[in-house]
Amino acid sequence: MSEALQQNIAKAEGYLARFKDNTLGHYINGEWTQGSEGRTFENTTPVDNTSLGYVVQGSEADVNAACEAARKAAAEWAEMPGAARKKILHKLADEIEKRAEEIALVESMDCGQALRFMRQAAVRGAANFRFFADKAPEARNGLSLHQDQHTNFTVRNPIGPVAVITPWNTPFMLSTWKIAPALAAGCTVVHKPAELSPLTGAILAECAEAAGLPKGVWNMVNGFGTEVGKALTEHPAIKAVALVGDSATGKLIQAQTASTLKRLHLELGGKNPVIVFDDADFDRALDAVVFMIYSLNGQRCTSSSRLLIQSGIKDSFMAALKERVASLKVGHSLDPETEVGPLVHTGHYAKVTGYFDTAKEDGATVAVGGYSLRDELGPGNYVAPTLFVDANNSMRIAQEEIFGPVLTAIEFDTEEQAIELANDTIYGLAGYIWTSNTGRAMRMANKVEAGMLWVNSENNRNLPSPFGGVKMSGVGRDGGDWSFDFYMETKNVCIAHDLHNVPVLGR
Ligand code: NAD
Repeated sequence: MSEALQQNIAKAEGYLARFKDNTLGHYINGEWTQGSEGRTFENTTPVDNTSLGYVVQGSEADVNAACEAARKAAAEWAEMPGAARKKILHKLADEIEKRAEEIALVESMDCGQALRFMRQAAVRGAANFRFFADKAPEARNGLSLHQDQHTNFTVRNPIGPVAVITPWNTPFMLSTWKIAPALAAGCTVVHKPAELSPLTGAILAECAEAAGLPKGVWNMVNGFGTEVGKALTEHPAIKAVALVGDSATGKLIQAQTASTLKRLHLELGGKNPVIVFDDADFDRALDAVVFMIYSLNGQRCTSSSRLLIQSGIKDSFMAALKERVASLKVGHSLDPETEVGPLVHTGHYAKVTGYFDTAKEDGATVAVGGYSLRDELGPGNYVAPTLFVDANNSMRIAQEEIFGPVLTAIEFDTEEQAIELANDTIYGLAGYIWTSNTGRAMRMANKVEAGMLWVNSENNRNLPSPFGGVKMSGVGRDGGDWSFDFYMETKNVCIAHDLHNVPVLGR
């Protein structure tokens, strides 16, 4: 074990001790509470599947208490001047930055993502708060729409208490992504972190507390989706639900929220194509293809899990790709050398390794990987980065979201075939196009069915740009002003110039 890894483990143990010694509760109405029923569940680390402590398993009563707190706090928070909210949210970002090392180490141990990527979690989380903090004073602004005899103007008001439900893959960053615009818009929040990685959600709530958010503005309830998540989405005080999660969960939430007619933003799964044409910049495309599926353990909604490779470049590109995939460094998530860490949970490990057999059953070839690394690396959820070749788009490895460090490569000849293959999926989150032909890039960008396309780039996040998917990858967009549109109601006010004839009846 390297010295750097030993040091990181020692530091992480220091930060994790309190979670091991004390059951992690909920944060409701400005108080930490152990909930109403005394039930708990165990949280484990993917690096060796040992315990990180116990977490309170929230109940319907806990959800009711959190929603009631968010409801009571809503008016005061909504009416607070935007400049005051801006100040508090910048303070929150300061608190996050102060705890950047802790957040990175705890996050890596809780969800298995390599520290090299999680070092950015706090920085990006704080940036989310700062971006929306600066926009808070103008969030209510609308449009002026002129008619000859009337003037219409629009104004936006916070929609009310909202539910934010987040997944385990990059829990800290994704939570900030949703909660920051909600608070900046003037909404109060009930957050339900993923049950598989609840720790940094608690740190985030502590940062909010330290920043001086009024009681009830931020509430967090731990527990399972089928209980806490369901009760939260059904609660009448909650006016909108922002979910980042699986497409199956998105469908459930659409059904659960139907009777209370809530607004939904669903950021769901993907089976995103990266399309590499013969004329692509070979080295940059190779770097991006490797990065966009093997970084973050492939547990990333925008990962490019299907490589569509044009026949002219195929042999040389695949030879170089195999070499790179075989050289990826798998290991403990706190090792600075690690590029691919352990998968979040034993259940997810079983799902991902199950696809090694699925690939062979469907007639594909395992060119690299396709096995567990538990014998080599110990009892964590380690798998070899895997590359499937000789695949076609109808195979399960080309259609289903595996959500691991697993890439399926498929050959194509023409631009038309590339479009057909790219769109032959139930999903439509992201796509990546590599070509030096601008006209072709434009044609592809028009035809590929996805909420987000990157041309000659890996996933580059720009906070003012819209983020979201089409088809089974989701409903709605956030980012920039799209976030305020989601968390706010637009009201139209029409004022007469007293020039028009008011219709007369019964005179
Ligand atoms: P998941 O859907 O199982 O869980 C996400 C959250 O939803 C968890 O907090 C869970 O407890 C909750 N939940 C589950 N059932 C619920 C219900 N019936 N009602 C309310 N809440 C419920 O997803 P996951 O396994 O944690 O995360 C992986 C998935 O998230 C992948 O499909 C991935 O593509 C997706 N994801 C999407 C994006 C995006 O921006 N599109 C980003 C990251 C992850």
